[in-house]
Amino acid sequence: MKSLTLLIKPAAGLCNMRCAYCFYRAASEERDNRVMTEETVDRLLEQIAAYKPASLAVHFQGGEPTLAGLPFFRTFVGKLRAAAMCPVQFALQTNGLLIDDAFAAFLREHGFLVGLSLDGDRKTNDRCRRDKTGESTFSRVLTAAETLKKHGVAFNILSVIDDENAKEIDATYAFFKAQGFGCLQFIPCLDDGGASLSADAYEAFLKRCFDLWYADFESGRYVSIRHIDNYIGILLGEPPESCAMRGVCGSYFVVEANGDLYPCDFYCKAAYKLGSVFDARPFEPNEPQRSFIEASRAIHAHCGSCKYYALCRGGCRRDRTDDWTKNKYCTAYYNFFEYAANRMVRAAKTLRG
Ligand code: SF4
Ligand code: SF4
Repeated sequence: MKSLTLLIKPAAGLCNMRCAYCFYRAASEERDNRVMTEETVDRLLEQIAAYKPASLAVHFQGGEPTLAGLPFFRTFVGKLRAAAMCPVQFALQTNGLLIDDAFAAFLREHGFLVGLSLDGDRKTNDRCRRDKTGESTFSRVLTAAETLKKHGVAFNILSVIDDENAKEIDATYAFFKAQGFGCLQFIPCLDDGGASLSADAYEAFLKRCFDLWYADFESGRYVSIRHIDNYIGILLGEPPESCAMRGVCGSYFVVEANGDLYPCDFYCKAAYKLGSVFDARPFEPNEPQRSFIEASRAIHAHCGSCKYYALCRGGCRRDRTDDWTKNKYCTAYYNFFEYAANRMVRAAKTLRG
C-alpha cells in the first residue's frame, strides 16, 4: 500500500519574522517567493490523485505558511476533500502570529495537528525570535496558544536549541509546564543560520532535559518530548517516527510554492531538486531521490561498532560531516546515552507494563 507524505510550502520563503537562526531564508532567497498559485494547487492535486496513495500526510510549512491566507487553506483542503482520494492527515508548522479564531476553527474542523514555534519564556524566546520590525513575538505566540486551546486544536511546541537556549532548559521546561504544554519538540539549530550549537552544549542540554523529564515520569506525569518519545519507542521495539532518528533519510517530498520538489526541508537547494509537480509522474521514485536516500545509509566506522547504534543510528544526515557519515554531535549522543540509557530502559519497562 503506497503512502505519500508532502511537506508543502504554500507561502514559499515568505515570513513575518526574522529569527536569528533561520536556515531557510538563505536557501529561499535563491527562488521566487510567491504564494502558491491556484494552477499549481490544481496540478499538485492532480498528481496526488494520479499517484493513488492509500494514505496521505499533508504538512504545511514555510517560511510562514499562514501568510498564504486562510482562503488559500480553505480552497486547498476543500478541493482535496472533494477529490476524496484516501484518508488525509493534516499538519501545520507556524509561528502563530496569524492564528486567530477563524484560523483555529478551520484547523479544528479538519483535524490539523499544529506545531507552534516558541523557544521558552519571554527572555529566551525573544532573544532569537523577533518579528520583521525587531519587536517581541512572545505575547502573540502565547495568545495563539490560547486560541488553539480554546478551539480544541491539538498542538505541540517546537523549540530551537542553540548554545544559549541549551543553558536555559530548566527555565524553559518549567515555563512550558506552567503553561500546560504537554507535547514538546527540541531541535538543534543549524550552523548555517545565525546561531550555533556545540556538541558540549547539546550534551548538557540532552542530559538536563532528560533529568527533568524523568523526574516527572517518576511522579506519574508523562510529558511528551519528541526525541525522548522516539528513544523510548525504539526500546519498546517500535520504529522511530522522526526520520532524523531512523538512521536513513525518509522518502517524503517538500513541495515548494512554485511546484518544485525536494527531498528534505534541510536540502531545498538546486543540487537536490527532485523535479516538479509539472513533470510527468513526479511522485514515482526517481534517481535523485534514490541517491539522496542511499547516501544517508552510509555508516561511519565508529557507529558500526558503537553499543548505542540501535538507539542513535548515527543521527540526522544534516548533522553529519561532508562524507555524510560522522555525526558532529556523536560525543553528545554517546555521553548522553551513557548517562541516561539505564533510566530510559526502566521507563520503557514501566510503560510496557
Ligand atoms: S536529512 Fe535528516 S531530516 Fe532530512 S530526510 Fe535525512 S534524516 Fe530526515
Ligand atoms: S553515539 Fe556516535 S558512534 Fe554511536 S551511533 Fe551515535 S553517532 Fe554513531
